[in-house]
Amino acid sequence: MSDVETPHLNARAAYGRLWREWLAPHWHKMMVAFGFMLIVALSTAGYAKFMEWVISALEHKDPTVIWWGPLGIIGLTFSKGVGHYLQQVVQNNVLSRVQADMQKHMYDRLVYMDLAFLLAEAPAALAARFSADIELVRQASIVVFGSVRDILTLVAAIIVMLSIDWAMAIGLVLVFALAFGPIGIAGARIRRISSSTQSEIAHMTEAVNEGLTGIRMVRTYQLEEWLKKTSDDVFDKLQVLRVSLVKWQALITPMIEVLAGIAIAVLLLLVALRMQSGAIDLAGFIGLITALGVATNPARKLGGAYAVGLQGMAALERVYALFDAKNDIADGTFTYADGVKPRGEIEFRDVSFVYPDGYAALHDINLTIEAGQTYAFVGRSGAGKSTVFNLLPRLFDATKGSILIDGVELTDHQLGSLRNQISVVSQDSILLSGTVLENIGFGREGATLEACIAAAKAAAADEFISALPDGYNTRIDPSKSSFSGGERQRLSIARAMLRDAPILLLDEPTSALDAQSEAAIRQGLDALSKGRTTLVIAHRLATILDADQIVVMDKGRIVDQGTHEELLKRGGIYADLFNLQFDMKAEHSTRKRGRSFAGRKRKRGLLEMVSRFVSLGHNNDHL
Ligand code: ADP
Repeated sequence: MSDVETPHLNARAAYGRLWREWLAPHWHKMMVAFGFMLIVALSTAGYAKFMEWVISALEHKDPTVIWWGPLGIIGLTFSKGVGHYLQQVVQNNVLSRVQADMQKHMYDRLVYMDLAFLLAEAPAALAARFSADIELVRQASIVVFGSVRDILTLVAAIIVMLSIDWAMAIGLVLVFALAFGPIGIAGARIRRISSSTQSEIAHMTEAVNEGLTGIRMVRTYQLEEWLKKTSDDVFDKLQVLRVSLVKWQALITPMIEVLAGIAIAVLLLLVALRMQSGAIDLAGFIGLITALGVATNPARKLGGAYAVGLQGMAALERVYALFDAKNDIADGTFTYADGVKPRGEIEFRDVSFVYPDGYAALHDINLTIEAGQTYAFVGRSGAGKSTVFNLLPRLFDATKGSILIDGVELTDHQLGSLRNQISVVSQDSILLSGTVLENIGFGREGATLEACIAAAKAAAADEFISALPDGYNTRIDPSKSSFSGGERQRLSIARAMLRDAPILLLDEPTSALDAQSEAAIRQGLDALSKGRTTLVIAHRLATILDADQIVVMDKGRIVDQGTHEELLKRGGIYADLFNLQFDMKAEHSTRKRGRSFAGRKRKRGLLEMVSRFVSLGHNNDHL
């Protein structure tokens, strides 16, 4: 099982890693951004110092202040504005790069990740890591950057205050911290209550929804009272939270007014004392007040940054968990020597398999599949046929026992080489964005155009591809591809044909195709499986009858194996199910008569019935 656990991170570890692995490579740009932050901090705090000089010059009736005063103010605000702008530009440049790098890395991890890990999480949750989590990391990084600027500004403002009158500076900071501390506490309380309110509202919606969507069951089982009781609790809880929220919200405004009043009164007292003792003049006082003013904004923002920083940390934890998940499917070393043609013989020895969620899907499978032969797997949906297929390319590793290809254990094969020996044609023939040619060419690295066209011809796909507006260069948009099921199937056969692997895993389509498509596909598949070891999850009678061997599966076990005739004669599950659905004798005599037209027609009638018996709502999500 893949390792999805990560130890709980602390802020230093989380952001430290963000710095080391993602931001540090851009350190020179970060230094530039830091330089601009310094400009912003100095111009902001310098503004206060400058005000002191201006007022002092006015007090002393200095005539030159008339030009340097306004110019200085403009200069300072201008440098602050430009510094701010350039800091944002450089910072955004770095953070967008980092965001894209993280997304690329995450995607890279995901496409190589063990299926066991991917299936453990809903696709939507994985997608959310790309968008929501990485975005949260970016937002938090912006806030952390901003906090550095705010700290610099705060420090610079305090230095300005100290330079004017250290005693007043300390007094002012203390008065404001003491006055506004309680407001911060009330604010945090309000945030906590409103987030509990949010989650209670979610519970309420859930409860109401549940009750209404399951109303039939509720009525039949007379669960109304029980339902009412559980939802009444939710409504009551919400009401208590609302009362508490409004109480705290109502408290904030008078609290601010009273505390601000007290702060100003203490401030006046301090000013009066210091001015009487001659420690500061009016200019100094104005400088101090201005410095205090410019310090409040960064101080307030630093308080808010904490919450965003925590959110970012939680997002980082989730992102790192994905980055650090370990693959359990280890690579082997065996490759076929040059010039040795893989035969494609497969052997299952006492193979059992348990899915990561604990579901035991296969039990003691023993099966030898001879090279070049076709084995049809039949059995009800959920019997374990797709699971057998999943094990061969090592999408999952067997929990017990061993599987050998050409006498070599799967785990000893080099993964790339192993997968090169296998082609898959599944029901839901997957197309990727790209041209038709590329979609066939995915089958084999470095395939030539001629080889692709030859494969398409052999798969009976050349005709419809040539009729496309741009022929082989027609672009496919998988989300709105207008290819029919039959055409997709033929493209996928062409891809497998080009791949030319000795082993073919074939999951026959269950959905009915028109007769012409079906004939074309049969022709393609016959050509494809020729000379290859073919394992087919069979849904058509024709396929079952043509197979060299039929493997009957039930509840994760192989319950019988043989040719159609042998299996019928033996009278096991196969015969039971078959007799249940078909007029066996008629079908049999049809077959003995050879493939007369009448026989084929009869068989087609039976095809639909047999697919019901072998597929019974077959699902193919797992390959
Ligand atoms: P078949 O192909 O014969 O319909 P499968 O091999 O798809 O059967 O499934 C065999 C059993 O394993 C089923 O009960 C199915 O629900 C279960 N199964 C399939 N895939 C998974 C999975 N990823 N996690 C847990 N159980 C699974």
